[in-house]
Amino acid sequence: MGDQFTQTSRRQFFRGAGVAAGAGTLAGLGFDLKPVQAAATKLKIKGAREVPSICPYCAVGCAQIVSVRQGEIVNIEGHPDSPINRGTLCPKGSATFQLAVNPNRLTKVKYRAPHATEWEERDLDWAMDRIAQRVKETRDRDLRDSWEGKDRDGKPLHKRVNHCSTIASLGGATMDNEWNYAHLKLWRALGLIWLENQARI
Ligand code: SF4
Repeated sequence: MGDQFTQTSRRQFFRGAGVAAGAGTLAGLGFDLKPVQAAATKLKIKGAREVPSICPYCAVGCAQIVSVRQGEIVNIEGHPDSPINRGTLCPKGSATFQLAVNPNRLTKVKYRAPHATEWEERDLDWAMDRIAQRVKETRDRDLRDSWEGKDRDGKPLHKRVNHCSTIASLGGATMDNEWNYAHLKLWRALGLIWLENQARI
């Protein structure tokens, strides 16, 4: 099944490469391909409803047009009326479509129990419940309200910290602005101090 998929993808790739090479040759011969490209884009979104939106990824706030047909997203591209991005999107924003529509999105997790040698497949709901359970157990056990130490002169120091230093959060690049906001609020409320998020523009 996997091989079949790989072969199909490869065939599609070479077919696409052939079309691209042909288009490149035509362009090289002096043909103006802009009308053809515009027509192809129109075909893709033909009959679709255009919904103005904002790229979910970063605080630049580039505007997008989300094309929806029969309740399904069929295309996402930059909004030409936006004074911020004028129709353009960075590589990450250009890939927003695959965030919503992606047959390769994982819907299961692999779990290996302590001391076990085999991986088991579990669904996402199970994984979420398990993470919540472990966070609660760890925080209940390790939250410290104060810290005892010494200052530079060696005098005893007592500080209120209210932190839990045994849980860390590492955010991914596909977490959007709103999710990042809620995510950090949650962890700070629980007393976490080790927080890191990829992608901050
Ligand atoms: S991720 Fe890229 S496209 Fe999206 S708002 Fe930021 S700069 Fe714009």
